[in-house]
Amino acid sequence: MYKQQFVIIGLGVFGETIATELTRMGHDVLGIDTDEVKVDRLAERITHAVIGDVTDESVLDELNVGDYDVGVVAIGRNIEAAILATMQLRDRGVKKVWAKALTNQHHRILKRLGATRVIGPEFEMGAHVAQELHYPMVNNYIGLGEEEFIVELIVSDNLDGCQMDALIEKADAEVELVLLKQGKTTSTNPSSDVTLHKGNQVVLVGQLDELRKFADHL
Ligand code: ATP
Repeated sequence: MYKQQFVIIGLGVFGETIATELTRMGHDVLGIDTDEVKVDRLAERITHAVIGDVTDESVLDELNVGDYDVGVVAIGRNIEAAILATMQLRDRGVKKVWAKALTNQHHRILKRLGATRVIGPEFEMGAHVAQELHYPMVNNYIGLGEEEFIVELIVSDNLDGCQMDALIEKADAEVELVLLKQGKTTSTNPSSDVTLHKGNQVVLVGQLDELRKFADHL
């Protein structure tokens, strides 16, 4: 595994989860927060946990954050601190800076300041949950950009014994079957005339409206 150096600024639930998971995966993680209680709680669970206010520019200099591969700005409500942290990480040469935003305006500001990716956890999770509630058979999905998605479906009772190509034809949807998992056997690019069985995992790729059309006919 390629061990990377991560600096996580802000150790609320979001930052703490990222910091502890990355440490568990074997990476080097520096966590910074103004809140002593949060820092103490993480002291034994991440590589380094430091009390510091990132609006004081000397703090990030003393910690040599410029040497880190990736910076995560996990500050939500204090937008001034999130802006300063994002700017400082970029100014000190951190190539990959991911920042959390609570609103659309924050999103635009952080992106303009050089964040390589802006995450809206509440929006993104909310959209995910709505999709899952609307299409309960959808187990997971990944956006590929430009409205293209990879979707994982679990074959339900009422599709047991159906042929994949017949389902696609009935829905008149332009979707492509890319992977099928039946029990312990995984086939990539399976033939579309395969017969599905309850519990099979099906991975499809297509444009969002085509995938919706398909899902609506299941
Ligand atoms: P979460 O939703 O992740 O639990 P939160 O809602 O508790 O976060 P946020 O406002 O998103 O709080 O802040 C996340 C963390 O960032 C907090 O632990 C806070 O102490 C820390 N923080 C805020 N301002 C600064 C700062 N200037 N320097 C360092 N850490 C800061």
